[in-house]
Amino acid sequence: MHKILIVEDEPGMRLGLKDNLEFEGYQVDLAEDGITGLNKILDNKYNLILLDVMLPQLSGFDVCKTVRKKGIITPIILLTAKGEEIDKVLGLELGADDYVTKPFSLRELLARIKAVLRRGEDFPKNSRNENNISIGKLVINFSAYTAFDGEEQIQMSHKEFEILNYLWKNRNNTVSRDELLTEIWGYNEAPTTRTVDNFILKLRQKIETDPNHPQIIVTVHGVGYKLIDLNI
Ligand code: CA
Repeated sequence: MHKILIVEDEPGMRLGLKDNLEFEGYQVDLAEDGITGLNKILDNKYNLILLDVMLPQLSGFDVCKTVRKKGIITPIILLTAKGEEIDKVLGLELGADDYVTKPFSLRELLARIKAVLRRGEDFPKNSRNENNISIGKLVINFSAYTAFDGEEQIQMSHKEFEILNYLWKNRNNTVSRDELLTEIWGYNEAPTTRTVDNFILKLRQKIETDPNHPQIIVTVHGVGYKLIDLNI
């Protein structure tokens, strides 16, 4: 039976979700603030966490960030309020798997829950999936947003996947920093080329056998980066 933790401070929402999820056959545990939620996640094994963003004591973002820092890969679906648009992006970068915006329909939430749980269970199947691509020491599935180093799942943010995907699509060709900025961040966000470099550093830590001497994502001096496909 799948065990789900709901971290939500609003009693009506918390208990309503509990009833409905139990009715669907899930085992449900509850926490009403960020600290309690975090402690429960650290002390128990859940299949999924529903995490409200605006929480007393510790925000959903901080819970998410801390959980991922500790290497816990339990799927997290954020419950965001309307108008927290920017927060959703941030949430995914902090390692959340999905989000729903309040007010959401039960049907929508159940569909997301099933999809996220299925993604986790498909892993042994996924590793033989034709969507899997070997990049450096990792096996990447861009459609499932998964990265594995052998049996171990490697946490990569949404943005890291997007950058890697773009480099992969243009493999063996030089991609400039400006191109990455436009393609990945778009014009309404304004990070600097330094941001791009930081993301590349993070990707190298995960992909390269020796991140100090990159063989896969190489620097093209004065221009940008090139992903070398060693499979051909
Ligand atoms: Ca709340």
